[in-house]
Amino acid sequence: MRGIVLVLNAGSSSLKFAGFRATGTGPEPRFTGQVEGIGATPRLIARDAAGAVLAERRWAGAEAPASVAEAVTTVVRGIEASLHGQPILAIGHRVVHGGTEFAAPVRVDAGVLAALERLVSLAPLHQPHNLAGIRAATKHFPGVPQIACFDTAFHRSQGWVAETFALPPRFYEQGLRRYGFHGLSYEYIARLLAAEDPALGAGRLVVGHLGNGASLCAIAGGESRGSTMGFTALDGIPMGTRCGQIDPGLVLHLIDALDMTTAEVSDLLYRDSGLKGLSGVSQDVRQIEAAGTAAAEGALAHFAFRVRREIGALAATLGGIDALVFTAGIGENAAGVRARICEGLGFLGIRLDAARNAAHAPEISVAGAPVRVLVRHTDEERMIAEHALAVLDADGG
Ligand code: ADP
Repeated sequence: MRGIVLVLNAGSSSLKFAGFRATGTGPEPRFTGQVEGIGATPRLIARDAAGAVLAERRWAGAEAPASVAEAVTTVVRGIEASLHGQPILAIGHRVVHGGTEFAAPVRVDAGVLAALERLVSLAPLHQPHNLAGIRAATKHFPGVPQIACFDTAFHRSQGWVAETFALPPRFYEQGLRRYGFHGLSYEYIARLLAAEDPALGAGRLVVGHLGNGASLCAIAGGESRGSTMGFTALDGIPMGTRCGQIDPGLVLHLIDALDMTTAEVSDLLYRDSGLKGLSGVSQDVRQIEAAGTAAAEGALAHFAFRVRREIGALAATLGGIDALVFTAGIGENAAGVRARICEGLGFLGIRLDAARNAAHAPEISVAGAPVRVLVRHTDEERMIAEHALAVLDADGG
């Protein structure tokens, strides 16, 4: 198969895209880019695989793409024009929710699209934009296979014990269960480690995807055994602006005693909490570290405390771990946060090497420590491209 696999990740106000050339040994990155500020003042930037800027654009007035669907149309037109006749083999889409039905990537047809529509209520902030991206891409390239790849799919191996809430079973049957998210990132990391070191890939891992959205995942034998995220991407550890795990009784109190509307509670928990809410500075760890205020210090200390607690909890579900892996924006770049998290985890066999950690080395534990601590770059777009090619292969091209 010769040609390009496009990857689209359509969010509420941004569209990320990437292009990979299909080769015999898997997808080879060619370009990445994003349109930000959709609905306000959109701007596009695209770079080649080496990071050089290929295109940069700002729009004004009526020309500006006003919706994610319009941004998809604009981007795919631009990409098509720049490919000089190279065929687009498939378009892979990041879709946040696959519900109970989709445990693997799937080629989208009318029936699949209808099934994904029914999941909108499970992820109202993300799923409609993901589906708008699929519809716009299908309209522009009606003959090109569209492959949906799910953030929940990797976690379907968790099993009932980890997935269920302690509610009457009818709620589980209705789909009210822990799904877990960031699955494409975890799957990428699990495969990467298995390729690097098959014994490690078959072992017990806790992986921390610590970005604006953040979660941790327990992995054994390359499969998810649990996630800190649950029914929604609000559960688990504190994030840039999301609170993470919170006593459900507190939510009732906000509504019943403090007279907050559900919209106000939603805004509080999704947009005004987490590192931003606690620090009063920003959701960005770099700015929080630079602020040096007591509230900023408290935000970082609480974040590390909660992550450490969840590492312990996930390690307990696995009966111990062979490696702890940090990934995503904070995990890959914030040495100070990694050091704080690992402080006090010596009982698990985790011992950081300060110099390696400061240098963001691929392995930041001391030589010979019982548990390896690794830093790896995650690449969800590449994972989607690999899935898209695999689905094409399975379909016979
Ligand atoms: P997203 O979930 O939006 O994909 P990323 O994985 O890119 O997010 O993570 C973004 C976050 O990573 C930023 O908000 C910031 O907190 C953190 N980050 C990125 N670079 C650094 C850095 N050099 N030092 C500390 N934190 C960083």
